[in-house]
Amino acid sequence: MMLLLLSSFIKAENLNIFGFYPSSNKSLFSEQDKFMLDLALFVEILHAIEGLEISGRELGRTLYQQKRYIHLGLSKTWNSKHLEFLAIDMEFMLDGKLITSSNSDLMKSIGYLWESLDDANEAGMFWKWKDNGHFQRNKYKGFWE
Ligand SMILES: [Zn+2]
Repeated sequence: MMLLLLSSFIKAENLNIFGFYPSSNKSLFSEQDKFMLDLALFVEILHAIEGLEISGRELGRTLYQQKRYIHLGLSKTWNSKHLEFLAIDMEFMLDGKLITSSNSDLMKSIGYLWESLDDANEAGMFWKWKDNGHFQRNKYKGFWE
């Protein structure tokens, strides 16, 4: 509530002090645009799989959310691509059944598809600490780093 009150009194370019990225950052905006294009293509290609349904979960995240996630042990990093609006968490159902394992052939194929769309794309399911439904673009450097 306090955040909402305060944000109505400040200019848009200063919103990053409350955990939102400034839209005036053109190189980051271009990366976000490429991410959105790949995401649209990704969803369209996946819809060719009969019986597959997709739910998009978290995309953008504020510093406040990230701080909370780290506190709760839900995230290990301040370098989350969600903070740059360059990552999305998704869930998949096949024939009405939630796909929960990153080891299933279908999930691996979904991860490989995402990574094949661009060299900068990464699927969290292939990380040492698996993040099963996480898909990100990891090329932009310099905003949070
Ligand atoms: Zn994620």
